[in-house]
Amino acid sequence: MSNFNPAEQIQDLQYFGEFGGVNPSITDSSTFTFLQAGKMEELFEKEIEGCYLYSRHWNPMNKYLSNALAKMEGTESASVTGSGMAAITNVILQICSSGDEIVSSRTIYGGTYAFFKNFLPKFGIKVTFVDSTDMSKVRAAITSKTKIIYCESISNPMLEIADLPALSKIAKEFGCKLVVDNTFSPLMISPALHGADVVAHSMTKFINGMSDCVAGAICGTKEFIDSLSDVNSGASMLLGPVLDSFRSASILKNMRTLHVRMKQHSANALYITTKLSADGNKIIYPGLPNHPQHQLMQTIWNSEFGFGGLFVIDMQTKENANKLMELMQNNNVGYLAVSLGNYKTLFSAPGGSTSSEIPEEERIAIGLTDGLVRVSIGLDNNPERTYQLIKKCIEQV
Ligand SMILES: *Cc1c(COP(=O)(O)O)cnc(C)c1O
Repeated sequence: MSNFNPAEQIQDLQYFGEFGGVNPSITDSSTFTFLQAGKMEELFEKEIEGCYLYSRHWNPMNKYLSNALAKMEGTESASVTGSGMAAITNVILQICSSGDEIVSSRTIYGGTYAFFKNFLPKFGIKVTFVDSTDMSKVRAAITSKTKIIYCESISNPMLEIADLPALSKIAKEFGCKLVVDNTFSPLMISPALHGADVVAHSMTKFINGMSDCVAGAICGTKEFIDSLSDVNSGASMLLGPVLDSFRSASILKNMRTLHVRMKQHSANALYITTKLSADGNKIIYPGLPNHPQHQLMQTIWNSEFGFGGLFVIDMQTKENANKLMELMQNNNVGYLAVSLGNYKTLFSAPGGSTSSEIPEEERIAIGLTDGLVRVSIGLDNNPERTYQLIKKCIEQV
């Protein structure tokens, strides 16, 4: 485990294009020909290495990208989807049947929260939300029907760090699967190495890093990934969230620079939050000693990639938060936009946007107040210059 370096796993991929290109060729086809009719029948029954049937099932470019993701996460296999939500919903619907239960962290992305709370009950699947930093609460919520323990390695937007080894121990004890959304911490945290059974990503964010497309990924055992594309019972095959080959190709190229980007995002965030915090601002950032899981993070991280590119400024009121965001956009700190992981800084107030699906009383319970501004710091060349800009904006609120 200590020798595993996710960046080098990606670096070592040697993919040749059809004519010796340095990038693999994009297959511009929805369907694939067979030389023998019998082979087609065989492929309907089981996966055959290097053999393709139909692009919703698999296509060569999605295989290249999936293979890169499996390497990065240290899992046997992976598959890609048309969005992060497609990855999460497919994993859940593949594992759970009517009557099953999920124990989920209560601080998760708003879309996932809404899917759990409002959509899954239609299928008789019950989700219990718990404070997943408290193992006694996780244990107490598990019943004989629990199939999944669900969390985000770094949660959106409260930046809570999941104690993956402890959660994985409980999952194993009760025979359920630990499913981890690793969107905020690609390369930084390798959940599978700490016992996660399935790792999901929104590639829309850091992995692609350009805010030019929506995409997702699922990493896990070969058996699980194969089950997703089973023609008779696979969620990915039957719900059809396929990622287009052209997008897949561009995401794969962007993945090649992910390690450089993550280091820069993390270095910028640590520099800026350290200074903003010293100025007396209320900041949430895992890299600051006052973060509740500052120590824990350092027991599970791949240290060279840092504490990540996201931090939260608590402006106390919604008015102040809105004023700060408008000032930051007008002074070109970045864009007032949802999403994260872009080369430019993006910021939004999660209370009224990406986490608005979470009911107010629950938002208050987890500290997700209306004065919070979530910042996804960009690849800015000089963090001191960015810090000065943000400081000036805060002073004007
Ligand atoms: C954005 C996000 C998602 C959803 O991903 P999409 O690509 O927008 O579908 C899921 N989880 C987390 C943590 C996210 O930030």
